[in-house]
Amino acid sequence: MTIEDRIRGTIYGQAIGDALGLGTEFLTKSAVRKYYPRGLADYDQIIRDGHRRKWKEGSWTDDTDQMLCIMESIIDRREVDTKDIALRLYRWVASGAADVGNTVHSVISQPGFLDDPHRASESVWEKSGRSAAANGGVMRTSVLGVWDYRYPSRVRENAAKVCRITHHDPRCVGSCVVVCLAISAILRGVTSIDELFEDAYDEGALHDPRIAEYLDRSKGSLDALDLDEGLDPEAGSNGSIGYTLKALGAAFWAMKHSLSFEGGISKVIHEGGDADSNGAVTGALLGALFGFSEIPGRLVSSLRGRARLEEKTVRLLKLVECRP
Ligand SMILES: [Mg+2]
Repeated sequence: MTIEDRIRGTIYGQAIGDALGLGTEFLTKSAVRKYYPRGLADYDQIIRDGHRRKWKEGSWTDDTDQMLCIMESIIDRREVDTKDIALRLYRWVASGAADVGNTVHSVISQPGFLDDPHRASESVWEKSGRSAAANGGVMRTSVLGVWDYRYPSRVRENAAKVCRITHHDPRCVGSCVVVCLAISAILRGVTSIDELFEDAYDEGALHDPRIAEYLDRSKGSLDALDLDEGLDPEAGSNGSIGYTLKALGAAFWAMKHSLSFEGGISKVIHEGGDADSNGAVTGALLGALFGFSEIPGRLVSSLRGRARLEEKTVRLLKLVECRP
């Protein structure tokens, strides 16, 4: 498999996992079964309820919009520029983005965000009682595993500083770094799942001990991740579906247990919960692992916004190739 195939797989995998995952976002696992009795495999099957009506068929959501803010900044600046990415995220929200997460919204509304985004995000995290650990950083992080993939120390630094623009919690930063290091390792030719897990444990331990707990869960059944937790009113809701370690866990579960890109994405999104974000992270990792050529053509050709994604991907590929 060529490096180009793996890089394309990462970028398209993120967008496709996000777009297909929209179909089951905010549904319980049992509601997913009810709405998609024969399974969800194509964008045109996605139900048009109050939430999903906001997007046209085959669209990705905020996860990939934000990934593109990072990707376009890198393409224009030829480096990872925290303030420039912060400005692009700010403009994206101001342009009337459909579905902005609570943490992103709070942080970019802080006075001084554009001058010192890291301070703004730390302040919002402190005000949350150091408890907010949403998946808004990890769902957009994939491109940072591609850029500078030859140098793990740069990948680590880039992933951490872009996460902290909005998400300060060590579980968020750790999730971003672990996902980006895994993508970069795959691009460097590491395809042993055991080795990718070992590296994830080592890196996760530098950030937060709870990361290991979710990596443990992802080695077993997908039930252990309880991806729709907090959606079922009968089950004692605590609203934890958007937790960063659930997205990380889902993606690592899929790496360990999937025989194909499509099979892995399908299993994860049929669990419901924050399925577009779980799908985005899973899609990026599986896309790197299996390559773009293994992604079903119908999911690529009917992806809305594909021309823009393709143009940016071609430009990124050229830059990455020439990078020292
Ligand atoms: Mg989303």
